[in-house]
Amino acid sequence: QVAPVFCRALEYGDKTAIVDSSGSHTYLDLYASSLGLATRINQVLGRESMDAREQHISFLCSNDASYVVAQWATWMCGATAVPLYRKHPLTELEYIISDSQCSLLVAGHLYGDTLEPLAKKLGLPCLQLGPTSTLSSRALAEKVVDTGLETDWAERPAMIIYTSGTTGMPKGVLHTHSSLQAMIQCLVSEWAWSKDDIILHTLPLHHVHGIVNKLLCPLWVGATCIMLPEFQPHKVWECLLSSQAPMVNVFMAVPTIYAKLIQHYEQNFTQTHVKDYIRAVCQERIRLMVSGSAALPQPVLQRWAEITGHTLLERYGMTEIGMALSNPLMGCRTPGAVGTPLPGMEVRIVMTNTTNAIIAEGNSRETQVRAGLEGKEGELMVRGPSVFKEYWNRPEETRGSFTEDGWFKTGDTAVYRDGVYWIMGRTSVDIIKSGGYKISALDVERHLLAHPDIIDVAVIGVKDPTWGQKVVAVVQLQKGVELSLAELKAWARDHMASYTIPTGLLLVKEMPRNQMGKVNKKDLMKQFYPSQP
Ligand code: ATP
Ligand code: MG
Repeated sequence: QVAPVFCRALEYGDKTAIVDSSGSHTYLDLYASSLGLATRINQVLGRESMDAREQHISFLCSNDASYVVAQWATWMCGATAVPLYRKHPLTELEYIISDSQCSLLVAGHLYGDTLEPLAKKLGLPCLQLGPTSTLSSRALAEKVVDTGLETDWAERPAMIIYTSGTTGMPKGVLHTHSSLQAMIQCLVSEWAWSKDDIILHTLPLHHVHGIVNKLLCPLWVGATCIMLPEFQPHKVWECLLSSQAPMVNVFMAVPTIYAKLIQHYEQNFTQTHVKDYIRAVCQERIRLMVSGSAALPQPVLQRWAEITGHTLLERYGMTEIGMALSNPLMGCRTPGAVGTPLPGMEVRIVMTNTTNAIIAEGNSRETQVRAGLEGKEGELMVRGPSVFKEYWNRPEETRGSFTEDGWFKTGDTAVYRDGVYWIMGRTSVDIIKSGGYKISALDVERHLLAHPDIIDVAVIGVKDPTWGQKVVAVVQLQKGVELSLAELKAWARDHMASYTIPTGLLLVKEMPRNQMGKVNKKDLMKQFYPSQP
């Protein structure tokens, strides 16, 4: 039966759900505070009963218990939650609030000043939350919320989550309670979540990675989530290594975060006994470390394994579908690959540039091999219970992103090789067509990262009169070193296929990656080749 996460909170009662900068919050605390806020929301919306169905409620909160309260209160009212992100500029906040057609805003303790003027401008009511230390009001928790909605949660809209906007304007992705629950249950079973788990949360809370994988999964099983207000490498190391309860045993992040943690380690933990201690703690206490949201560079995977003894579990997902492919919890994780379909997810590869010639479907290795899929490349398509319902208010785009028989077209190119899937990149920007070859930008990046002087790289396809497109590498070098295109080419001749070697090299001081570790390649193109469309 489908029900939102808060419905399980009473079961977990006095267990600690969230630890944040203001202290610990039990499941009952969160439930009570959510009920309090739900009551206020209904008052503002002028409703007597807890039934704000069809309403969209936008909230801007810190990474702490207030976020959970805003989300749960919205669901208690039967409304749809639209999370905002504190680092978004005002224009983006306004875009999301307007585009999602919100009828009420909730401002976390620190964000009244940000949201109030916007609320005024847009003519919306805005509720202000107090500091999380004052959140709980136990008396309320005795009342079990009677929303009158419990019986038909499944197809009710739960959240509108905006995509990262890597390939265009962010789109509002509407998930129902049933698609959200499918995402949660799939990960809970596949990554063996239990009430004894303690996860460290350092990611933004406006994407599936931060919302579902790192917050709703632990709350679903009655585990504990330690929330840091923002990512700071020294804080994360401190929490991972702390021997005070609650001690972290699960960690998930985007590749850039792992890269920054490694950088901090190299600069600060130089003594052998400290290194030994770190490795021992990570080995003894931590059961799972996951990476996703962008391709995990090999040097990061390797160095992290040396430092902590953990081979990061890489998985692949999207706002629209939750997680679809994952390396296994137990067993061999293939470096550079994203593993096999998660339970309930069907995956297929459709060859691009042909009229929808499906070359394989089904999940077992035998099916893929029998269908001749081995080594073939094409568009990754997905079907399953966690796939979203629609792009909010964009019927055309919704229609265009599904095939007639209901497969969601991810827009990513993938290849099936050696029993696992490999992501080659976004078909629209990462697949470079040069002199009759199709070159994966992600593949070229993987190779270039093996160069000792290169810290970070983004490969783009630039228009070229002779070749159609040429491969250009935007590179961040180690401090103090220099690299010319001729030197790079000379090195590359021994390491990569000749037609994939970059013929252009652009140096940047720091790779412009967003909070989710993604490079916006369209922005890079605009910056370096403003005349190209
Ligand atoms: P928009 O849809 O607005 O352009 P976006 O696609 O970046 O933004 P998300 O839904 O947050 O928004 O990101 C999903 C994308 O992230 C996938 O389509 C894929 O390109 C990329 N991705 C996720 N996990 C991985 C991974 N393990 N390896 C490579 N790419 C990944
Ligand atoms: Mg996308």
